[in-house]
Amino acid sequence: MGSLSGRNALVTGASRGIGRAIALKLASEGANIIVNYANSASSAEDVVTEIRELGVRAEAIQADVSDRSACEAMVDSAIRIFGQIDMLVNNAGIGSSGIDRPTITEATYDQYELLIGANLWGPIYMSKALVPHMRSAERSDIIMISSVATDTYSERMGLYSIGKAGMEALAYTLAKEERSNGMRVNVVAPGLVDTDMGRKLITLLPGSDDMRERDAGAPFGYVCTPEDIASAVYFLVSENGRYLTNQRIAVNGGGF
Ligand code: NAP
Repeated sequence: MGSLSGRNALVTGASRGIGRAIALKLASEGANIIVNYANSASSAEDVVTEIRELGVRAEAIQADVSDRSACEAMVDSAIRIFGQIDMLVNNAGIGSSGIDRPTITEATYDQYELLIGANLWGPIYMSKALVPHMRSAERSDIIMISSVATDTYSERMGLYSIGKAGMEALAYTLAKEERSNGMRVNVVAPGLVDTDMGRKLITLLPGSDDMRERDAGAPFGYVCTPEDIASAVYFLVSENGRYLTNQRIAVNGGGF
């Protein structure tokens, strides 16, 4: 019996990277998990298999979170599968490195739609579809995986930062609107994390393209792992986080 047993989570973008680590962590604590993905069907099935080996339930659902009807269909399926969803982790996202870091004026409107679609409209569609249902749970949690990009608003990160800033506004507003319904809404903001996205990003930044060569210069001697982000998410949704809402935790080793 894990500390999350009896609870059911939907984690967007759980086929790889941070979302995968969150899905596995919540499952290891006893939660059943919906593993959302956009394209990586076989990776998502591998995550489902790993989760089931932990003795809990898991199903993969394909949905592009920037597609409203796909989100609504995913929410309907998730509720049909588990009966109730009481944890939503809005993790799916696309980094500025995914579009080679254009400036605000260089970026095409297709690029704006891509980044704001995944990073902002996705969390909006998921929240609009799931929140009314989640109110029936005695306790429910939404975690938004944002970024320290909203601390710095760096050049060539604008489309991403706009999406993440909007996502944080969504979180802090929902935290107030849904508190009386038992919902906690919090933001986890990673710095550089060792995932496909992080590895692509460092090829576009000064310094080594090899993540392991960056370990020595990182806080605590290693670049943040997906499991470090998953631990923060687990803390927030666990009994330890029951009095925490409307908060933002930057998981970046202190921001040096
Ligand atoms: P990643 O390695 O690129 O993995 C992205 C995940 O999101 C994959 O599972 C992908 O699914 C899914 N995804 C992307 N677009 C989607 C869409 N439109 N609909 C549904 N799923 C979608 O990224 P990551 O590093 O794990 O990042 C996860 C989150 O952390 C993102 O929100 C990112 O902005 C944030 N973050 C990351 C870093 C970092 O350094 N890595 C830093 C700060 C914040 P498929 O496998 O099917 O493509």
